[in-house]
Amino acid sequence: MPTETFEFQVEARQLLQLMIHSVYSNKDVFLRELVSNASDALDKLRLAALRDDTLDADVSDLHIELETDKDARTLTVRDNGIGMSYDEVGQLIGTIANSGTAEFLRELKEAQDGAGAEGLIGQFGVGFYSGFMVADEVTLVTRRAGESQGTRWSSRGEGTYTLEKTDDAPQGTSVTLHLKPADPDNQLHDYTSVWKIKEIVKRYSDFITWPIRLVGEKGEDGEAAEPETLNSMKALWARSRDEVSEEEYHELYKHIGHDWREPLETIQLQAEGTFEYQALLFLPSHAPHDLFQRDFRHGLQLYVKRVFIMDDCEALLPSYLRFVKGVVDAQDLSLNVSREILQQDRHIRMMQRRLTKKVLSSVKSMMADDAERYATFWREFGAVLKEGLVTDADNRDALLAVASFASTAEEDKTVTLAQYVERMREDQEDIYYITGESRASIDSSPHMEAFRERGIEVLLLTDPVDEVWVDAVGEYEGKRLRSIAKGEIDLDARADEKSEDDREAQAEAYAGLLGWMRERLEEDVKEVRLSTRLTVSPACLVADANDLTPALENMYRAMGQEVPRTKRILELNPDHALVKGLNEAYGEREDRSELTDTAELLYSLAVLAEGGRPKDPARFVQLMADRLERTL
Ligand code: ADP
Repeated sequence: MPTETFEFQVEARQLLQLMIHSVYSNKDVFLRELVSNASDALDKLRLAALRDDTLDADVSDLHIELETDKDARTLTVRDNGIGMSYDEVGQLIGTIANSGTAEFLRELKEAQDGAGAEGLIGQFGVGFYSGFMVADEVTLVTRRAGESQGTRWSSRGEGTYTLEKTDDAPQGTSVTLHLKPADPDNQLHDYTSVWKIKEIVKRYSDFITWPIRLVGEKGEDGEAAEPETLNSMKALWARSRDEVSEEEYHELYKHIGHDWREPLETIQLQAEGTFEYQALLFLPSHAPHDLFQRDFRHGLQLYVKRVFIMDDCEALLPSYLRFVKGVVDAQDLSLNVSREILQQDRHIRMMQRRLTKKVLSSVKSMMADDAERYATFWREFGAVLKEGLVTDADNRDALLAVASFASTAEEDKTVTLAQYVERMREDQEDIYYITGESRASIDSSPHMEAFRERGIEVLLLTDPVDEVWVDAVGEYEGKRLRSIAKGEIDLDARADEKSEDDREAQAEAYAGLLGWMRERLEEDVKEVRLSTRLTVSPACLVADANDLTPALENMYRAMGQEVPRTKRILELNPDHALVKGLNEAYGEREDRSELTDTAELLYSLAVLAEGGRPKDPARFVQLMADRLERTL
């Protein structure tokens, strides 16, 4: 079959351009990426051979081989792993399957500094392409284990690649980089240098569980030296913590987490007894961009007795810990274990419980020992962790203990519920919170006025999940969690500002207006009443204690559920000049059509004040402009 030429998919082409032309500060990582692919291919073959004993593959000496040629200026990374079929090469190497690619390209353009761009490479799994950072031509020869025909792929990275079938390809894959001309000023980056290759492997790939051998250059006598194994192949999770350096842990994290940054925390667990396993878990330092997307791939790597079994094993951790990366190596599972079996296995459930507790207790220690690191953790992953408050009743207390929230009492620090309760005012019975889209919008919300005036702390909850967990949790140490935008808030009685008599007199004076307004605004509100929470604003909207808030309503709709529109309660500030004036006019005038407009405006102002948008913006503007004109 002749050589065929194909065009790269558009995204792939864009990526290649970036690889070729961008100046990355650390090009060495290309080798880590290729070795990582080779290691995955060996894992896959061993597993396939275990599962299917009819597979016609040689698994007697699985390894990775590196070979340099100074004269030809080539570097070859070879593995005798699973390999790829002709079609697979086209699919896997010619296109980019990752749906996040568009986002990747955007982020890459934004990340103008070398370090940022470099990190994105690993994060988005464009590993193979990174070869083009150092090579102006890449050739890949591969044969799928069990098949007889091989495939040769080749490209200069400039928009097209060629594919051709070959008969003499060994099992597995070899990637040959035709290196760019040597830079005489920078000998450090000569990738044909044995010294350089050794250094990179040691630094980035020492923990790879397959031997990485360096094939010696031919000597004077034409004989190649004995291949040398460069990596120690330590299964870090099976070793005790004092035998392993931080760097080694971090490199393992980068390999399995597809991340270039250091992890925030390394967590080790060795369970002994009837069901023995070792776990090495990492808390990343940054949340991935697709953490909240439905198809987010998560889960730990599962090994059974050092044999890699699967990636993304979700059964080992609850979904609210889906950002945790790591390895679990179990002694007593079958090598044939499938995802379905794992979901139901009793031992796996026990493991999940134990790992969950371990992660939560690590976060708790981090909170106690290193406030800054905890703050980073919570900023990145707090919103995910809070899902656990809803879904994992068993660990609710442990989660509440490590949760923290923005608060009116602190400008740029979060507070825990324990801290909040500790400084509650003596006469305060409830924990107050408000939900909304951003701190800025709720900080200035009218609901906050009375609380601010009285110096009562309010938690500012801005994650979508907040609406849900506060309902699910209900209380903390016997203190109710109460939204300041829901139900009646009776602060005055305690603040003793207005006597009972004054309030009754006021209620009487406003009774007519309130009833009339309720009728006028019937479509939008279910009640109009006087407020005790306002000091500056004329009006605000509140929900009944058990009503859905607008944010929750939107969330349910977004999830495709039918929810009836919940009408809310309009609260008026009886001490505000506008409200007073309206009440007087109501008492005096026969013709109330003008007043109807004012009532409508008042309602729209309350909507605006909480960051909402008037039902009919054009009409709102018209009414408003009309009023303003009359003030001139
Ligand atoms: P990633 O490794 O993040 O998936 P790459 O671009 O590095 O992205 O590789 C794309 C795919 O090509 C891999 O997922 C794998 O299926 C296949 N592949 C790459 N290198 C090899 C190899 N040495 N052996 C077998 N398959 C490979």
